[in-house]
Amino acid sequence: MRPEILYPFFAETISLSGVGGRLAGLLEKPVGRRILDLLWHLPTDVIDRRLSPKLSEIRHEQIITVEVEIGNHEPPPAKSRRPYRIWCHDGTASLQLIFFHVKGDYLVRQLPVGSRRVISGRVEIFNGQLQMSHPDYMLSPERREEIPALEPVYPLTAGISGKVMTRIIRAALERVVDLPEWQDDALRRRQGWPGWKAALLNLHYPEGAGDLLPESPARRRLAYDEFLANQLALALVRRQSRRKKGRALRGGGKLTRQLYQNLPYELTSSQKACLEEIRADLAAPTAMMRLLQGDVGSGKTVVALISMLCAVESGAQAALLAPTEILARQHYESLKELIQELDLRLEVLTGRDKGKAREKTLAALAAGEIDILVGTHALFQKDVIYHDLALVVIDEQHRFGVEQRMALAAKGKEGESMNVLAMTATPIPRTLTLTAYGDMDVSRLTEKPPGRKPVDTRTIPLDRLDEVVQSLARAIRSGARIYWICPLVEDSEVTDLAAAEARHRELAQIFGDRVGLVHGKMKGRDKDQVMARFASGDLDILVATTVIEVGVNVPEATVMVIEHAERFGLAQLHQLRGRVGRGTGKSVCLLLYSNSGGETARARLRIMRETEDGFRIAEEDLRLRGAGEVLGTRQSGLPDFRVASLEAHQDLIPIARDDARLILEKDPELKSPRGRALRILLYLFEQDEGIKYLRSG
Ligand code: ADP
Ligand code: MG
Repeated sequence: MRPEILYPFFAETISLSGVGGRLAGLLEKPVGRRILDLLWHLPTDVIDRRLSPKLSEIRHEQIITVEVEIGNHEPPPAKSRRPYRIWCHDGTASLQLIFFHVKGDYLVRQLPVGSRRVISGRVEIFNGQLQMSHPDYMLSPERREEIPALEPVYPLTAGISGKVMTRIIRAALERVVDLPEWQDDALRRRQGWPGWKAALLNLHYPEGAGDLLPESPARRRLAYDEFLANQLALALVRRQSRRKKGRALRGGGKLTRQLYQNLPYELTSSQKACLEEIRADLAAPTAMMRLLQGDVGSGKTVVALISMLCAVESGAQAALLAPTEILARQHYESLKELIQELDLRLEVLTGRDKGKAREKTLAALAAGEIDILVGTHALFQKDVIYHDLALVVIDEQHRFGVEQRMALAAKGKEGESMNVLAMTATPIPRTLTLTAYGDMDVSRLTEKPPGRKPVDTRTIPLDRLDEVVQSLARAIRSGARIYWICPLVEDSEVTDLAAAEARHRELAQIFGDRVGLVHGKMKGRDKDQVMARFASGDLDILVATTVIEVGVNVPEATVMVIEHAERFGLAQLHQLRGRVGRGTGKSVCLLLYSNSGGETARARLRIMRETEDGFRIAEEDLRLRGAGEVLGTRQSGLPDFRVASLEAHQDLIPIARDDARLILEKDPELKSPRGRALRILLYLFEQDEGIKYLRSG
């Protein structure tokens, strides 16, 4: 239950005076529908209106507030597109006010000749004449007070002017009550941070641009609050999953030994180390909650398989969940190949399996005849009943929500919590991993299987496309298979598709029917068919939107062409490049760029040329672009923070983690005065997931 003290924060914006249905509607999407959302809508800049020089002293463009006497009006001739000009002066020099698209007699009424007015806005010098177009404020001298000395600038929102936004947010700030301090006193004193309310007010009423910088004490204080809420919630989830009994899966090792005998390679020491951690988790009587983090091609599949074998050896079942149909089928195929000599039944189940075939699979599953089931969301539908599911492996973890993870976990035995091994190929830096997966233990595959040849990466301007196409013709003659990735245009799948279709047509004119096309809008079956033709060598070129981004494995593919590479995130480029260099042939990756991307875009492509180390790429991407943009937060699986910046405030994350752990050690149910304040913090940052695991009180 949300504490009463927070009720005002969760009231709807429409309850503010001056906010009606129309404004509330305009606010809803970009900002939110509650007062709380307005509080987190922080200014990005501040306009200082305190300068009030004599007009004769002004030498350069600046923001000023001056009192003047209004002189002559010079309306434009009828039908002319010239502006309306009004002369004014302060006794030392003249200033020309300029207005475009003036309607009716508005200016005659606002600025009558001979009246005195206080004018505030940006003054410019044009041919020696001071000019100001569309002043921000034009008031009679007795209303001068209404002009703010320092005016926050809020991020723009369609249909709401800066002034209106400021007014609405001020109204919201009126509702703010101070909250009990949840921070550790010693930490707060050491850092020199203000209290919560003071910090919030400081950001909305900045006393200078410095107050708004990420390193300002107010900003850091609120960022820390947000990280603390995040870490505390994750720690609560973690504690909960450790509390419930899990199944101890010791495994006899028979299947694993058989697998090792048939495996055409030796595991890397990194794979061995991760497996050791996983085995220890599985053998313990508590549930495993582990994240296996490894770059594309680092060999996660075999680690997942051996973990699942351990469950099967213990007489239980295991399931492998993949985010897409293609991936599920591919996992199924590669696992089948690995286990062919083993006495083990493996099946696949996706949304495409229907009718009799599906019923047969479900019956075998319920009877315990299937040991390992691979599939998509279909794995945790209601009527899918497992005989004894004890381990769930989730590939590309970030593509699934918590609810989906829970639904699958619920398929286990009554009263037992599920062993979960989540896998991700997103190489996010370690500190950031804490914010997304703080409830899990992390194993990292830091080393790639031996024998991989580096991919020869080149950056080529788009206007040399013709040469690229010619070089592809040569490559095809010598047997190469080619991915051609089309750019992400805006965020629209429709335009992406148009671009990919056009490229496909053009390439087909040159290379005939050995060019295929896959995109996100295609039906699963059709997609698989095209992929299969490419995999079997029926197609030389596969044109694709980013649907092939994850997972697919065609070792014979040796050329990756990425059009408009500057539009992709670095991590995404890295994933795409990981599709080649998987076989014995020498591979190339051609990054075609347009120069419109600017210096940052070029710097990013340079990094792609320099390294194939996913973690280094992720760090650089973060440095160059900021966390919000790395892959797009959603794709990276990182939570969206409202005040905290993952790049500017990184140093606070481990502090918050330790703080959260210590808090729960000392006050496990958050019952002390600080504990109660922390409950408020959790609700304030809407970490309801964590609150669920606290006894009320
Ligand atoms: P990931 O899922 O992490 O991207 P995969 O599991 O698909 O990577 O492995 C990539 C490729 O490396 C596969 O072809 C796999 O057979 C191979 N591989 C995995 N482990 C090893 C190893 N220890 N030695 C050699 N090759 C390996
Ligand atoms: Mg994989």
